[in-house]
This record gives sequence, C-alpha cells and structure tokens, in this order.
Amino acid sequence: MFNLEEVLKTNFKFNSFKSKLQEDAINEISKRENDVLVSMPTGSGKSLCYQLPALLYPDKVTLVFSPLLALIKDQIDHLTALKIKATSLNSKTVAAERNFILTDLKTNSPSIRLLYITPEQAATQTFKDLFSNLTNRDKIAFIVVDEAHCVSEWGHDFRPDYLKLGVLRDNSDVPYIALTATAGVEVVKDIVSSLRLSTSFKTFKTSSFRRNLFYDVYYQNLLDRPYEHLKYFIKSCLESQDDDATKANKPCGIVYCRTREQTEVVAFKLSELGIKSLCYHAGLKNKERLEYQEGWQNGDFPVICATISFGMGVDKASVRFVVHWGVPKDPASFYQESGRAGRDGRASKCRVYYSRADRGAIEFHLAHDLAKAKKKKARTNKAQNAIKAFTKMVEYCETAKECRHRLFSNHFGEPPPDCRNRCDICRNKKEVEERAQNFLMRCIQ
Ligand code: ADP
Ligand code: MG
Ligand code: ZN
Repeated sequence: MFNLEEVLKTNFKFNSFKSKLQEDAINEISKRENDVLVSMPTGSGKSLCYQLPALLYPDKVTLVFSPLLALIKDQIDHLTALKIKATSLNSKTVAAERNFILTDLKTNSPSIRLLYITPEQAATQTFKDLFSNLTNRDKIAFIVVDEAHCVSEWGHDFRPDYLKLGVLRDNSDVPYIALTATAGVEVVKDIVSSLRLSTSFKTFKTSSFRRNLFYDVYYQNLLDRPYEHLKYFIKSCLESQDDDATKANKPCGIVYCRTREQTEVVAFKLSELGIKSLCYHAGLKNKERLEYQEGWQNGDFPVICATISFGMGVDKASVRFVVHWGVPKDPASFYQESGRAGRDGRASKCRVYYSRADRGAIEFHLAHDLAKAKKKKARTNKAQNAIKAFTKMVEYCETAKECRHRLFSNHFGEPPPDCRNRCDICRNKKEVEERAQNFLMRCIQ
C-alpha cells in the first residue's frame, strides 16, 4: 500500500530499517487497522515506529504522549532537522505557539504531523476541546503513548496522569500505539488494561534471551574460601583478553553487593588477592565516585564492587562478568544488572554467590516495608509485590529445578528459550542439584 522504504530514505535519511522487528512494527502500524504494542530495549528505534507512519496520512495529525519535556524536546529537534513538522503542547508552550497549534489543527489539512503532549496537559480543558474537535473531524492518525510503562505501578516510573490516557479511548477509535522498553508481564498487563488496548492488539517484542550470557549460582557458605573462589572466577573471566584491545575495552566486571560495607570488604579482599578493585556506593564523596567510575570505565581498574546505584548510564561493552555477592532483589533488577555483561555480544558470565544471611537481611527489610504500609492499599500492594518478586529470586538461587534463563522468560511472558548449555543447570543438572541439596542441608544443621 505504501512504499515504506522510500519514506525511510527520503524523510528519515536512513538506508534500512534497524531490525526486522522495527520494519514489521512499522508495516503493521502503517495499516492503521489495529492497536499495537511495541516492546524493544532502549535504543532500538521505537520512535520511528510511529514517526514514519505519521507521515503516511498527510491530512491527519499524530498525537504523542510523552512523560518528560526533555524527551519531547529531543524528538522535536530531531524531527525539525528532518523538516518534519512537529511541535508540543505543554505547560511551557508560549501563547503564540499555542494559538498556532490550535488554529493549524482546525484546518482541513493541518501542517503539523506530530503533536507531542505531556500527560498533565492531556487533563486540561484546552486539550480536551482540541481532542474532541479532531476526533469529530476524523483528523487523528494515531494516538501514541511513549514510555507506556509509566501507567504501571509495577514499573519504576509510575505517573498517575498516564492512567487517564485510556479514557480518551471512549470517544475515539483511532489506533493506539504503545511503546515501552522491555517490560515484565505485570507491566504489560497494566498497559493493556489502562490504555484499553483492543483485544485484537498486535505485539512487536524483542526476545529477552541473551544467548551470550552464562548464568550460574554458587553458595558462599559451601566454599572454604569464598573470596579466593571469586578471585579465580574473575581471573578466568578476565583472561579472555584480546591482544588488540585498547585499555578502555579490556575485559572488566562488576561485583554487586547489597551494602556499602560489603562493597568495601569485597574490594579490599580482592585487592589483597591481587585483583585491582574499587568500591562504589552512595556514601562516597561525589569526587571519589566520579573518579572511581572513571577508573573502571577507562580500564585502570578491571573490577568495581558496587551497590546497585552503579550502572545507570554505564554502557561499557566489554563487561565480561557480573557477580551478585549475596542475592539480587527481584527478577527485573537481576535481568537489568546482570544484563550489563556482554553488551558487545561476546560470551560473558553472570554469577550469584548466594548467601542466606543476605536473604534474611532483605526479607527483614521487605517485612518492615509491609508493616509500615499499614492499611494503605497502594503501598501494601507494592510491598506484597516486592515480596513475591523476591521469593522468585530465592527459588532461583536455592533450587536447581529449571534452566536459569527461564527466570527471565517467565518474567517477560515468553516461551522458554533454547538455552543450549548457557546455564549451569542445562550444562550439568546433576551437579547443580547436588550443590543445592548440600546447601539446604548445611542450612538446617
Ligand atoms: P528507543 O525509543 O527505542 O530507545 P530511539 O527511537 O530513540 O530508540 O532510536 C534510537 C536511535 O536509533 C536514534 O538515534 C535513531 O535515530 C536511530 N535509528 C532509528 N531507526 C533507525 C534506522 N532504521 N537506521 C538507523 N538508525 C536508526
Ligand atoms: Mg524512546
Ligand atoms: Zn539453561
């Protein structure tokens, strides 16, 4: 029906689609027949999935809800540079621009192709009037909800205003396009119900399976010398060294710990054993934090022992291992934290050195949060969800029932991946089962 590749080249100056999934999503959205949910990791090019189709209906406008002015500004600058007419209606829009928007969108062939709106703005009378005017004249091409996970309390970024976006549905049958980075089943459920996606909605989703990551679990209290064990593991991971690697992309790794003290102890022990390590936590002075992050980033120190505050915005490709010293908080965090390994696609390892003491400490905090939530429903729900999620993590560590990667495929609502020995259980189930049994025996003694 449309020559999408032509539009891609002429209007967006790209030679090809970024992925098959991007192309398929754009194909489907362009038809304007169904609601569509696009779930792909950050950086995979989700914006194009609605920006390209928006150009195919020149007498209509595409409404895009986006949570942050900064994100909106980036998109508008980008589109403007491509000579695509895009603008925004938000609390900071000056009167002249606001008048221009309202006038332009009331004409028969508006010049604005994409109108970005903050969710707060969507609640205003100005917007409601504009919306019904556009709806009555069938002038909306798509209703796009970017960062759609913001509708969900399961996500990390809940925005109550987002919940109201589904209400627009009542007065319109324009296709809804929801975009989110890889989201867990609960978040997806919330997106579908809050935005009232039609039952026939189509999903375009990247598989969460990371084939190059090997997952396994060891038990701190079964090891004679846990720090030495860790040292040998780290050494073996760092050995896979390329001769031509520059200092900054030399093999390196992260050891995540629950507390500041733990990061200090582990970094100290490793350094004593001959592995240059730094620690990183919120208690450091800003200057030190930056310096340490820099030291790791530029390859002076191959290992950083850190609390989970470390990693946001870190995109080092040559991370060969991620260790959790203790136990991760929940499957979603574990996926994200361990997923910092192997960004370059090369074989990398994700190991938990499990400890019951750590489990106890976390359970104590979770119980405390639940008690503090008292009778407040939202907080109680949240606390109960956190407990449920942690239980899955404990099960992952304390049993050897199924492929480690299934923790993630279950969380993301996907079929089990074809692991092919990319975890300890698939590689040697018997041995891992024995280890888990020994661990449990040791715990009841
Ligand atoms: P997401 O929203 O999924 O995080 P973006 O839409 O911000 O991703 O796109 C990430 C980057 O990919 C942007 O710089 C964008 O210009 C680029 N990009 C998108 N589609 C393509 C393509 N087909 N070819 C090359 N680059 C692309
Ligand atoms: Mg985006
Ligand atoms: Zn497996």
